[in-house]
Amino acid sequence: MTRLLFWIALVILVVAAVRSKLRAAMVRAQEPSAGPAPASAGADAQAWSRVEDKSEPMLCCARCGVYFPSSEAVRAGGRDYCGPAHAHEAQQDAR
Ligand SMILES: [Zn+2]
Repeated sequence: MTRLLFWIALVILVVAAVRSKLRAAMVRAQEPSAGPAPASAGADAQAWSRVEDKSEPMLCCARCGVYFPSSEAVRAGGRDYCGPAHAHEAQQDAR
């Protein structure tokens, strides 16, 4: 009985290993340009996708021209500002 369980566990492990290898190969094949190091290409792609997830578009302040992350933007009158002070100043000048 113990031998049977051992062989079942071994087969499950082999199938899982083959499936993970195939999935890694599929991900590598979908990339537009694979790097020269195929062993670490999967890990590199994961690291790059994590970096891209954290990035966000930069916007230009309509008042002072400084660039800032879009999450910090203050929108007023259809334009983006770096902070509420510049949004207020621009609104004051418009009047
Ligand atoms: Zn500004």
